[in-house]
Amino acid sequence: MLRNMEASLTARDRVGIQDFVLLDAYMSESAFLDNLRKRFHENLIYTYIGTLLVSVNPYKELNIYNKKQMDTYMGVNFFELPPHIYALADNVFRTMLSEFNNHFILISGESGAGKTEASKKILQFYAVSCPSTKLLNNVRDRLLLSNPVLEAFGNAKTLKNDNSSRFGKYMDIQFDHQGGAVGGHILSYLLEKSRVVHQNHGERNFHIFYQLVEGGEEELLRWLGLERNCQNYSYLVQGDCAKVSSINDKSDWRTVRGALSVIHFSESDIEDLFGIIASVLHLGNIKFEADVRGYASLNNDQEMHWLLGIPTQVLKQGLTHRKIEAKTEEVLSPFSVDHAVYARDALAKAIYGRTFNWLVNKINESLVNTDFSRKTVIGLLDIYGFEVFYVNSFEQFCINYCNEKLQQLFIQLTLKSEQEEYEMEGIEWEPVPFFNNKIICDLVEEKHRGMISLLDEECLRPGEATDLTFLEKLEETIGGHPHFVTHKLADIKTRKTLDRGDFRLLHYAGEVTYCVVGFLDKNNDLLYRNGKEVISHTCLRLPTLLKVMRQSKNAIIKHCFPSSEPDSKKRPETVVTQFKSSLVGLTEILMSKEPWYVRCIKPNDAKQPGRFDDVLVRHQVKYLGLMEHLRVRRAGFAYRRKYEIFLQRYKALCPDTWPHWKGTAAEGVRCLIQHLGYKPDEYKMGRTKIFIRHPRTLFATEDTFQV
Ligand code: ATP
Ligand code: MG
Repeated sequence: MLRNMEASLTARDRVGIQDFVLLDAYMSESAFLDNLRKRFHENLIYTYIGTLLVSVNPYKELNIYNKKQMDTYMGVNFFELPPHIYALADNVFRTMLSEFNNHFILISGESGAGKTEASKKILQFYAVSCPSTKLLNNVRDRLLLSNPVLEAFGNAKTLKNDNSSRFGKYMDIQFDHQGGAVGGHILSYLLEKSRVVHQNHGERNFHIFYQLVEGGEEELLRWLGLERNCQNYSYLVQGDCAKVSSINDKSDWRTVRGALSVIHFSESDIEDLFGIIASVLHLGNIKFEADVRGYASLNNDQEMHWLLGIPTQVLKQGLTHRKIEAKTEEVLSPFSVDHAVYARDALAKAIYGRTFNWLVNKINESLVNTDFSRKTVIGLLDIYGFEVFYVNSFEQFCINYCNEKLQQLFIQLTLKSEQEEYEMEGIEWEPVPFFNNKIICDLVEEKHRGMISLLDEECLRPGEATDLTFLEKLEETIGGHPHFVTHKLADIKTRKTLDRGDFRLLHYAGEVTYCVVGFLDKNNDLLYRNGKEVISHTCLRLPTLLKVMRQSKNAIIKHCFPSSEPDSKKRPETVVTQFKSSLVGLTEILMSKEPWYVRCIKPNDAKQPGRFDDVLVRHQVKYLGLMEHLRVRRAGFAYRRKYEIFLQRYKALCPDTWPHWKGTAAEGVRCLIQHLGYKPDEYKMGRTKIFIRHPRTLFATEDTFQV
C-alpha cells in the first residue's frame, strides 16, 4: 500500500497533475507554472482547469494524433483519460447530442501558440468520429479540405509564426440528430491585405503565391507568364525570405490543387483564380517612370492585361490617370510616379482581398447543408492571436483590439457571469477579483470618444487630416487615459520614451507601441490616395480603377467588382468600423451558444521544441486569466443545469421520478439525487438550477444511466 502510494507520488512528481482543480492546496502562480513545465518536459502538453483545456505548443510532432488515439477518446468520460484535445472535442460533441443545443469552442492565445493546429485537430476528430455515409463523407472531405485552401490564401510566414493566420475564422460545423456532419459555414474576418504589397524583413507574402511559383505545373506557369523563381517578383521578396525551411511550397501546392477540385471548384474557376494570383505578381513588377512633364508612364504591361481580360490601353490608363468628373465632361488627370505606385498597390490589395472573400463564399456554397431538418452546431473560433512586433501598425491595432474583445467575452462568460450566477441563484460565494479589460475595449470603441470614432472622424476630413493630426486628436481626447500613452506623456506614465509618430496602448496582454503612419489610409481603404493634392472634391469616391476592373473578362474579377457597387456620393464604412460591427456580430453568434475553451500557450519565442521559457509562460498565464479561472473553478461548481433539464435527462434513474414526476422540478431533482446518493458537499440547490461541484459526480450518474 505504502509502496503504491510512493510510486504514485513519484509519478505525480514527474508528470504533474492533469487537472489544476484537483490540487489539494491553494495554488500559487509558481506552482501552476511548475506543473505546466513538468508536464511539458514529459511531452504532456495538455492540462485541464475543469473543462477548460490548457495547451502548450510542443513545437515538434507528438505521436498523439492518430486514429488509435481518437478511438481511445471517443465516447469516454472527460476525466477518465489523460487530458487531450480529443477529449474536449468528444465531450462537446456528446453534450450537443444529449442536450440538442449549440456550442462553440473558443481557441485563444498569442501568435504561434497553436490555435490553428488545435482547431484542425478538433475538425479531424469530428471527421473521423462522426457517423458516416457516402453523402456525409463528401461533406466531411470538403470541411477538412477547406482548411489547406484557406490557409494557402490567408496564412503567411511572420516573425512569430511560419504559418500565421492573417485573417480571423469562425467555422460552424452542422450536425444532424444522429451526430452526422451535414454541413458547415465559415465566416472570415479582416484579412491583412497590406501583406500583398509589403512584407517586413523575415516575413513572406501569403503562401499561395510561393506555392504557385514553386509548385505550379510548367504548362500552367507558361500560360500565366510566370517564371519558376520567386526572386523575380517584387511582391515576393520584400521580406527577403522567400524560402523557409519549415515550409514545402511544392507539396503544399499539390494539396491545395487537389483540395480545390474536391470543394467543387470548376476548371474555369481554377483558371480564373490563378489568373488573378499571377496578375497580382505581374502587377507588382510594373514600374513607373516620369515622362518629360513629370507624370507617370508604364515601363511595360507584361501579361497582366490578358490574364485579367482587360484591354491594355484601358488598364494602362487606369494605372496612370484618374478621371475627374467636371460638370459636363470627364477630364483625365495624370498621376505622378508616386501616385501611380500607390494606385498599383491599392489595386493589388483590392484584387486579392476581394478574391479572398469570393473564395470563402465559394467554399461555403460547397458546405451548404441541403437537409433542412433542425440541426445543432459546434462553432470553432480560430482568430489571429495577440501580436507585438518591432513596428506595429493599423493591422496589429485591429488584431489586438479583436483579442481584447475575445478576452472580454471570456471574462463575461466565465469569471463575471459565473459569479453573478451564484449570487442570483442564492449560492454562498466569496468573490474572486480579476482584471476586467472592459476599460481597454471602451478606450478603443466607445462612441464619440473612443479611438475608432476619432480615427473615423479624421478620415472624414480628406485633405486636412493626416496621421499626425489623428495622433494629436488622440492626445487631446484620451491623453489622460491610464491605458494610453503618447510621446508627450511617455516619460511621465511609463518612463519609456516614444517617437513622435507613435502611441502606446497598455493592452491586457502587454504593452504595444503603434506607429501611426498609414492609419488613415488603411482605414479608408481607397483605391486612391487620400492626400490633399489628389482629392479635393467628390471624385474622391470615383476611383477610376474600379471602373477599369469592371471591364474584366475574368469571371471572379467581374463578380468581385460589380457595377452595382456604392458610388461616390455614399460614404462606405471605414475598415475599422466594419471590423467593429463584424465583431459585434460574432459576439452575438457566440453568446447564443454554450462555450468551451482552449487556451494555447507559447513556450518560447524561438519556435524550438523542449524549451520552456518561464518568464514568457508566466506572462501568458497571467494575461490569459488562468489563475483567476482556476480560483473560480476551485471554489465553484463545474456543472449546472436548470432543474427541468436535469430531471428530464435523469428521471429514469429513480423509481419515484419515473416516468412522471408530479411535484416541482426542484423537488424532483432533490428526490432523484437522494436516490443516487449525492453527498452534501458534491452539489448545491440554487433557485432554478442544480450546481454540481465536480464533473466526476455527473459522469458517475451518466454511467449509471448507460448501464
Ligand atoms: P497565429 O495567431 O499566428 O495564427 P497560431 O496560434 O494559430 O498562431 P499555429 O499556427 O497553430 O499558431 O502554431 C504554430 C506552429 O506551432 C505550427 O505551425 C506547428 O509547427 C507548431 N504547433 C502548434 N501546435 C502544435 C501541436 N499540437 N503539435 C505539434 N506542433 C504544433
Ligand atoms: Mg493561426
